[in-house]
Amino acid sequence: ENRGHDKGVFRLYDSEMYRRAQQRINLARELRQALEDDQFELHYQPKVDLATGTMIGCEALIRWMHPDRGLQMPGQFIPVAEQSQLIGPIGDWVLFQACRDLREWQAANLDLVRVSVNVSVDQFRPGDFPEKVREALEIHGIDPAALTLEITESVFSEESETLNRQLNDLHQLGVKLSLDDFGTGYSSLLYLQRYPFDEIKIDMGFVRGILDNAFNRNIVSMILGISQVLGADIVAEGVENAAVRDVLLELGCRIGQGYHYSMPLEVEDFRWLLEKHSRLPLTLHPDATSNS
Ligand code: C2E
Ligand code: MG
Ligand code: MG
Ligand code: MG
Repeated sequence: ENRGHDKGVFRLYDSEMYRRAQQRINLARELRQALEDDQFELHYQPKVDLATGTMIGCEALIRWMHPDRGLQMPGQFIPVAEQSQLIGPIGDWVLFQACRDLREWQAANLDLVRVSVNVSVDQFRPGDFPEKVREALEIHGIDPAALTLEITESVFSEESETLNRQLNDLHQLGVKLSLDDFGTGYSSLLYLQRYPFDEIKIDMGFVRGILDNAFNRNIVSMILGISQVLGADIVAEGVENAAVRDVLLELGCRIGQGYHYSMPLEVEDFRWLLEKHSRLPLTLHPDATSNS
């Protein structure tokens, strides 16, 4: 007897799904156009030695300057890029652009040691990713050790031989491998043993909660312990104030990134930072929160 009602609900749901699907299709079309029209940008966030406050590298983060909607963050378009096979060409663009920028800084004698690039799981599907990396490094004359590839744990949601081979090829090539957002996904200690990660990034969820509760502090300590066993570097994401930095240092974490030091910056602003501050601490101001 309730059929009419149910059908109505169904149609509403149905049209909502249709609307979303349509949106995704439009967005994919716009992303394709964005590649052609060169609307993507890389912003750079310093990676910092927590004890001294000096920059030891940076992470490239993609932005999309949409002609009408303005600056778009990766969360707004990377998932659609992944669903529509566009992450391949977009990922290539990121890789080559980051190498080009690094080359320019090196040519200008700005001593930045290294750059990190985020890589999506889907970029490993075709199987030729290490070859692309080799090409990007060669074209721009970059030492493989100056490049770090950040991969999230979701890479392990499907175990595959080609993934295994590519991670090992990349390791052989001499680029650094970083496990991003550690602690949020398919964390298995087995993966850490099996794959050649040089760095583990502690997800900012744990880092930001470090002042609030012992649980987060213990998790961070545990990850630091694991990293020692593996000989991997640990990087804390989302260091937003000096109080968090202080606890991280107490726990033995040496490297961090976050708004306390710098937001991700447009390439011109980042270059300025390199010129002015490459040997100076990024935070010269006393942070109020450290005294509270
Ligand atoms: P991620 O690699 O874990 O990057 C860290 C994110 O945290 C960045 O967000 C960064 O702007 C933000 N962040 C840095 N410091 C702080 C802080 O102190 N507090 C807070 N609340 N946030 C901070 P963004 O740029 O929006 O990037 C989000 C995610 O999008 C990245 O997470 C990464 O997974 C993905 N992404 C970014 N660029 C690329 C890319 O070129 N390719 C691919 N495949 N994914 C990318
Ligand atoms: Mg990252
Ligand atoms: Mg991360
Ligand atoms: Mg993250």
